[in-house]
Amino acid sequence: MSSVNKVSIEATCTTPFPVAPLAAGSAEGPSVLFVDQSGQLGGAELSLLPLVTMLATRREVLLLTDGPFRQRLESMDVTVHLTIDDRVARINKDAVHLSWLFALPGIVRQIQAIARHARRFDILFLNTQKALVLGALGKPLHRRKIVWHLRDIMSPDHFGPLQRLVVKWATRYAVDYIVANSHATAAALADLIKCDPSAVPVVYNGVDAGEFDQVDDQRTKEVRRLLNLADDTRLVGLFGRIAPWKGQHVAIDALAQIPGLHLVLVGSALFGEQAYEKSLREQAVRLGIEDRVHFAGFQDDMPQWMRAVDMVLHTSTVAEPFGRVIIEGMAAGRPVIAAAAGGVVEILQHHENGWLVSPGDATALAEAIEALYADPGLAQRLAAKGLINVKRDFSLNAYIAQMNKVIRGIEY
Ligand code: UDP
Repeated sequence: MSSVNKVSIEATCTTPFPVAPLAAGSAEGPSVLFVDQSGQLGGAELSLLPLVTMLATRREVLLLTDGPFRQRLESMDVTVHLTIDDRVARINKDAVHLSWLFALPGIVRQIQAIARHARRFDILFLNTQKALVLGALGKPLHRRKIVWHLRDIMSPDHFGPLQRLVVKWATRYAVDYIVANSHATAAALADLIKCDPSAVPVVYNGVDAGEFDQVDDQRTKEVRRLLNLADDTRLVGLFGRIAPWKGQHVAIDALAQIPGLHLVLVGSALFGEQAYEKSLREQAVRLGIEDRVHFAGFQDDMPQWMRAVDMVLHTSTVAEPFGRVIIEGMAAGRPVIAAAAGGVVEILQHHENGWLVSPGDATALAEAIEALYADPGLAQRLAAKGLINVKRDFSLNAYIAQMNKVIRGIEY
């Protein structure tokens, strides 16, 4: 097995994270242990799911918390291991300073558990940030090649100095290969580690547009019946977990400016953001529009729910690392109105295949919704172009093929 491609953080670095070519004729690629911190079905997990299930090589998954993601993997015949520690699980972006000290014994146990499992595989694939830190710290124990799937924008807007320092350390000393999910995430990391952004390879997420094609009128009408809405009621949808930075409050403010329009919020507070969900309900009551805001909770069938709305909204108030919901909205053949920041602007071009508004601007969002209702021809054109683009640039097959290429190209 070849030598490690060490990461350099010198300003002059050019290709610190090589994507090696597909190993010619090798049916049996390297075996891979995937590690993800979440048992919930968030974007990181939903994009890992098809990769794990479609990877034609020995692979297993290690999760740091339990939940529906484990059940989904197991239902697809994937072996899943759990190493759970409640204190480690409670460390999050906001509470990182104090909580890690109390969690120290659990951190050590999880580092050891990841290393123990990793030793049975050729490659350790770290899918989330906590997995990155724990997998990197255990490198002297497992000595496996580490791939990090970068799905966060490592800027001061998103992360504190300590987290950025830890990631910088892990990237410098332990990570062998990085795959970013957008140029926005690649650029923020490159800035952090003082490297040329083009040195961080990007593989975009993909969706299967065929799943959206299969939804017929009957199924979209079912959604409207569930919401007690007539088939012709104007309805827009916001899809994704309920969290302050996802900006559901912006959509509610926009709704208050458009009489008669209904909004469905599909998603739940996955990571303890119940107080925010409560504040959204209060906001709707305060604005006198609680009968027009529908909380659908987490739904499994995105194609059905997305095709039941007239437009798909995206309202993140800070830069979105990628935004799977945007390519899903395009695959659903619906016009997408999105907050112009981060990975979003790599997917959508204003008035070409969607509509971009400034993040956090409820009035601009309301104007965009009204403009598209007022001009169905334009709405139709944007949606049609979006569908063409998603099939061409964000297909599930392309995503799987490129990720396979990354994994099979790794020298281990
Ligand atoms: N999602 C879902 N059910 C819901 C809400 C969201 O399956 O009720 C999915 C959504 O379809 C998308 C993912 O969760 O695939 C969210 O990914 P995105 O990249 O938009 O955001 P993230 O959660 O990664 O910040």
